[in-house]
Amino acid sequence: MAEKTVGEKLKEELFLKKENPLKNISDEKWEKVTAFAQDYKAFLAKAKTEREAVKVSIEIAEKAGFKPFDAAKKYVVGDKYYVNNRGKSIAFVVVGKQPADSGLQITAAHIDSPRMDLKPNPLYEDSDLALFKTHYYGGIKKYQWTTIPLALHGVFAKKDGSVVEVNIGEDDSDPCFVVTDLLPHLAQEQSKRTLNDGIRGEELNILIGSLPFKDDKASELVKLNILKILNEKYGVTEADFLSAELEVVPAVKPRDIGLDRSLIGAYGHDDRVCAYPALAAICEIEVPEKTALCVLADKEETGSDGNTGLASDFLRFVVRDLAEMQGVDYTVALRNSKCLSADVNAGLDPTFKDVMEAKNAAKLNYGAVITKYTGARGKSDTSDASAEYVAYVRNMLDSAGITWQTGELGRVDLGGGGTVALYVANMGVDVVDLGVPVLSMHAPFEVVSKFDVYETYRTMLEFCK
Ligand SMILES: [Zn+2]
Repeated sequence: MAEKTVGEKLKEELFLKKENPLKNISDEKWEKVTAFAQDYKAFLAKAKTEREAVKVSIEIAEKAGFKPFDAAKKYVVGDKYYVNNRGKSIAFVVVGKQPADSGLQITAAHIDSPRMDLKPNPLYEDSDLALFKTHYYGGIKKYQWTTIPLALHGVFAKKDGSVVEVNIGEDDSDPCFVVTDLLPHLAQEQSKRTLNDGIRGEELNILIGSLPFKDDKASELVKLNILKILNEKYGVTEADFLSAELEVVPAVKPRDIGLDRSLIGAYGHDDRVCAYPALAAICEIEVPEKTALCVLADKEETGSDGNTGLASDFLRFVVRDLAEMQGVDYTVALRNSKCLSADVNAGLDPTFKDVMEAKNAAKLNYGAVITKYTGARGKSDTSDASAEYVAYVRNMLDSAGITWQTGELGRVDLGGGGTVALYVANMGVDVVDLGVPVLSMHAPFEVVSKFDVYETYRTMLEFCK
């Protein structure tokens, strides 16, 4: 082999390296990557809504020794507890050797995903078919949600205080549901609509039945028959929809993608693909130097508002409870805390490369992606992480040999988006976004790379240990 020239050597020293990290991955490492992917897929299959994600997370955490928070208890180093916020968001805490005012290591991900929610008065009959009216949740391309099998998840909360869980469409023996679309033969008018308007919000109606109740006199017999089925199964009447949270999600299971099985296709990667690594990491640590806190939030997809979103005081109060127990100031604890806002970024899609600026686009298989800022319109609506904090994270990643990259959410002034980072930053915490690049984000079936998921998990573990 020819000796390297001075220029080649200098280039090696000065340039940022951008080689495919999987070129020389060892079999041993790949085995770990695929094993973690199996665990993640199992989590994902059971956690399709925020409520289910909380439930499954508690099951996993309790096996690792976490117990429900007890305000009367005095927690000591190594104790593990969780604070369940209305069954829709949750914080896991492992008490560290140092007191809370030396700062916490916080990982924050969200467990809500784009979907269609049933309206308070959803059920109707039209043309002898029964349907549900929906109001979509989060940013979706509506046309993607038609003509695919759908499942119904959620709860009816009854006046007597009881809550009935609903989960129909996931088991192979279950029926599923669908939003119908127009046949191309009769879509001449529809085809003139813009893509954004191709399917309208009020056209996202879910087909749920067609059999009439057998009666010669009553009207709306198909609707009646559906209510009879629901009444027999869940003990509910039409009025119970008024106090229900029923979410319509794709009835698809997580699957390996590609002949080489290197990718995962599933509904709800955003942001369970970061929530699961964060959870797995906090479940693995024993006695951290600083207190580790993993918060899994709701409502990120609609702006983090509400008492289960991260714009609320939930996280602040979890930190305050711990600080007060230790007799230290919680504002100092927050000010000294560090956070990884574990959220996804857009991966570079070879079919739609022009929405990205190549030098600052995240790529699948290039590892966990640091997003220094999100937002839009000249960095508005974002927490732009400080250079010093990014340097801290960079050093941590490199020291641990973790593969990582940086990314921006698309070309300047093309669009934009946000994460929970700014809400945590507004509490005085140092925050940066770090997570997994995704293809087809917010679609019913999103794609991520197994390797990126694993490197994100390693990051979370390194950060909280
Ligand atoms: Zn999202």
